[in-house]
Amino acid sequence: MAASALYACTKCTQRYPFEELSQGQQLCKESEATGLGTECSDLELLPSH
Ligand SMILES: [Zn+2]
Repeated sequence: MAASALYACTKCTQRYPFEELSQGQQLCKESEATGLGTECSDLELLPSH
């Protein structure tokens, strides 16, 4: 297995190395940064949410 497997981001469907995706939801860093596809686990920490 020379080539590292690529996994599709669950949001933008572009492919990234596994370590580039977030563990729980397989979002790439860009999609994760937008925050639109994330669940509430992190947002609950924000008082405005
Ligand atoms: Zn993405």
